[in-house]
Amino acid sequence: MELQNLNLQGKKVLIRADLNTPIRDGKVTDNSRILGSLATIRFIHQNGASVILMSHLGRPEKKLLPDGNIDKQTFSLKPVADELKKHLSGKVVLAADVAGADSKKQAAELKTGDVLVLENTRFEDGEKSGSEELAQRMAELADCYVNDAFGTAHRAHASTTTVSKFFKPDQRAFGFLMQKELEEAKKITVSPERPYTVILGGAKVSDKILLIEKLMEKADNILIGGGMAYTFLYAKGGNIGKSLCEKDKVNLVLEILEKAKKRGVQIYLPADAVGAKSIDEKSPVKEFPADKIEDEFMGLDVGPLTSKIFREKILQSKTIFWNGPMGVFELAPFSKGTIEVAKSIAQATKNGGYSLIGGGDSVAAVNQFGMQDRMSFLSTGGGAMLTLLEGSSLPAVEAMIRS
Ligand code: AMP
Repeated sequence: MELQNLNLQGKKVLIRADLNTPIRDGKVTDNSRILGSLATIRFIHQNGASVILMSHLGRPEKKLLPDGNIDKQTFSLKPVADELKKHLSGKVVLAADVAGADSKKQAAELKTGDVLVLENTRFEDGEKSGSEELAQRMAELADCYVNDAFGTAHRAHASTTTVSKFFKPDQRAFGFLMQKELEEAKKITVSPERPYTVILGGAKVSDKILLIEKLMEKADNILIGGGMAYTFLYAKGGNIGKSLCEKDKVNLVLEILEKAKKRGVQIYLPADAVGAKSIDEKSPVKEFPADKIEDEFMGLDVGPLTSKIFREKILQSKTIFWNGPMGVFELAPFSKGTIEVAKSIAQATKNGGYSLIGGGDSVAAVNQFGMQDRMSFLSTGGGAMLTLLEGSSLPAVEAMIRS
């Protein structure tokens, strides 16, 4: 069901949002996810209901205190609640726990237009394991459930997936952000307009092998850059110096290239590379043909010839999906290839093409270069978008649509 069709009057609505925002010194440093959640919250308020918000924040389970406990101060949602207060007119309060006694008490006191923010869902062991007990406690706080967290929709966690079974179909709905993401995802998964070009980058090829195989069924061109390209170049017999390489994936990569050839899908690897002896802004850079990198060097960006070839393909495309930077874009000397790809996609979009940028580092890069308004859609969920492209369903979405 869609949020617009829920009966909200006088209800308490539990929203799973994606408020996993960067925080420094107790302050939110990028509030875009919080701003993105406001439309759903405001709609619920305007329709006579109160809101209970829940989200994870970072990976507290991976950064335990020396005594082995969760660091509840560093990973608290307090900065998120403080930021929310600036944008909402009603009361915003933070619970001391995740669906525990304090949440229960504060939820009971909520009035129309109020927001109760639960603590970081990952403070509870049962979150990642999808615990029914935790999900039930969450569900008992509210009358309705709204899932607006596309970024975690590929995870079968308690707050994203298990919780929805405790609400009847007419008590649960997708929020506006989730609706938009699913709608946009269709443009690249269900009969995309051709030519369809996918640009993949990032560090690891192993993360994307299944994806590349699946993409061959849909895409016309696959452009590969970033660290992952070097496993391909190595597999084809190139000298890649000290570049990233997953040698145990060489056979798989060769099979992919063979399959692509049979299917008539064009896979483009970098023609040239910008190398340095270490991943360091001050390390002198040198350009190489991508398969002739000197032993002491590692390829840290695609070179100008690659950017030119990629641009040509991108400008010929009607549908473009991009995930993963072309190099170590965080450091200026190795950011050019990623900037050039972003510029080419912006131009193709201006020419009438459709472009979807798939989460994580590629979205960070587009934001870093100030090009966010020049793309058709920036997804908040890299992992979720890749899961859809792999042809798999999202557990959080499946749980919502089952009867
Ligand atoms: P991923 O998480 O797999 O999307 O990888 C993103 C990371 O890959 C970014 O932090 C980039 O700095 C890094 N990266 C991209 N290209 C390279 C490269 N050629 N060598 C090393 N790291 C790279």
